[in-house]
Amino acid sequence: MLNVGALETGFVMDHIKAGKAMTIYRDLKLDQLDCTVAIIKNARSNKMGKKDIIKVECPIDQLDLGIVGFIDPNITVNVIENGVIVEKKKLSLPHEIRNVIQCKNPRCITSIEQGLDQVFVLTDKQKAIYRCKYCEEKYHGHRNR
Ligand SMILES: [Zn+2]
Repeated sequence: MLNVGALETGFVMDHIKAGKAMTIYRDLKLDQLDCTVAIIKNARSNKMGKKDIIKVECPIDQLDLGIVGFIDPNITVNVIENGVIVEKKKLSLPHEIRNVIQCKNPRCITSIEQGLDQVFVLTDKQKAIYRCKYCEEKYHGHRNR
């Protein structure tokens, strides 16, 4: 069992696929937060074999749950208050994601004009398909593989 006792108030992202913690750290821009972040790599897990865990000592409202859901809806987000888990957040695919993935279409306006927001919109919820808001190019990447 992982000891969360050291964390007074904040949140823990658990069941991250092993090796993905740094990607999540970057995508969530956790480096820009002025709070304590602990990354645990290759923790042992009964369910997954190995997993990564991120502990963040700052209010949950600083976290973009949509991005976590986009990367992997199977990640568990536990909200910690006074050293105990008070809530488990349900993740789902966000309707829109901004500045996390980039359009690969060389003719897309976001490829030509620097400084434009990279916006992708969920167009098929069943198949989890995202398309560029500007040119409708489909996103082919897999965040969690
Ligand atoms: Zn595009």
